[in-house]
Amino acid sequence: MDSDSAERYAARIASARREMRAHGVDCMLLSVGSDLPYLTGYSAMPLERLTMFVVTEHDATLVVPGLEAPRVARGPFDVEPWGETEDPIELVTRLAGRPTIAAIGDQTWSVFLVQLLARMPATTFLPASVVMSELRVRKSDDEVARLRAAAEAVDRVLGRIPASVRFSGRTERQVSRDIIDMTLEEGHDTAQFWIVASGPNAASPHHEPGERIIEPGDVVIVDFGGKLDGYCSDVSRTFSVGAPSERALEIHAIVAEAQAAGRAAAVVGTACEDVDAACRRVISDAGYGEHFIHRTGHGIGMDGHEDPYLIEGNTRPLEAGMAFSIEPGIYLPGELGVRIEDICVTNEHEAVSLNRADRSLSQVL
Ligand code: ZN
Ligand code: ZN
Ligand code: ZN
Repeated sequence: MDSDSAERYAARIASARREMRAHGVDCMLLSVGSDLPYLTGYSAMPLERLTMFVVTEHDATLVVPGLEAPRVARGPFDVEPWGETEDPIELVTRLAGRPTIAAIGDQTWSVFLVQLLARMPATTFLPASVVMSELRVRKSDDEVARLRAAAEAVDRVLGRIPASVRFSGRTERQVSRDIIDMTLEEGHDTAQFWIVASGPNAASPHHEPGERIIEPGDVVIVDFGGKLDGYCSDVSRTFSVGAPSERALEIHAIVAEAQAAGRAAAVVGTACEDVDAACRRVISDAGYGEHFIHRTGHGIGMDGHEDPYLIEGNTRPLEAGMAFSIEPGIYLPGELGVRIEDICVTNEHEAVSLNRADRSLSQVL
């Protein structure tokens, strides 16, 4: 890796050690998931062959299957490839020493954790998010730039939809395929989800696009995203197939007002739950409180959902550099649903929306 990258990862590993000390963690063990590439630039293959980054006070060693070792860009850490007939758990246990407390990556496969538990009976295991969330929750300028690039790419997809995607007479699945294609065309490395929820299906927030044929008069929620350069996009807009009904306009206006209230409330120092409350108040005052059935938002970065969560009960104040969605919705069973979602980043003062695509109830054919 180049010297800038090496410096960045060395600084992150040093920060991880500071957080480990603060939590009494003697050793951190990272496998699949985003914590490992955050610290090393390398992503573990989700395999029955173990990849594990072992971080102690003085050493940082990437234990990697021998056949994967050529893919590792050497950086400010040691690399220990293991051969096909070796026991990687033995290797990890040796490198870990005898930790009193070990933090293990939240998404590590249980098949590895149960073996480590058996070999390290005196060790207490914590989830590594205890250490890593604190590092990852405030984005650097470079990370914000990547989130912005991902947001701009999905905005371009949204901008193309009214002129280039036909909804009426086609299935949700067909429309979702168009959106996946455009997401890749606009520069994403992967498309990761693609909700197209039409008519009554839009009352289910995570509806899986299916064989329902979209009709004139339908309201359609489109919520999609993926990864560009290691960072995630996630955006929702609601469309009207043909001219919108009075009802659709009314519900959409309430959600748009709630979403704007959430963006305005998201200033540095405001508790996460108060941003949720700001959105919820608008919807409750309009009489639809019971139909806003999910939290207002989630953090985003290398993972699509990460800290901070904008939800009642999360009293954590927003800080500069946090990135999160603001995505209120109203879901009326059997009838329709509306959601508007932007990814926002707090600067020194307020939240700036990275998504700038038209938020109105745009008409499609
Ligand atoms: Zn969602
Ligand atoms: Zn979304
Ligand atoms: Zn989201």
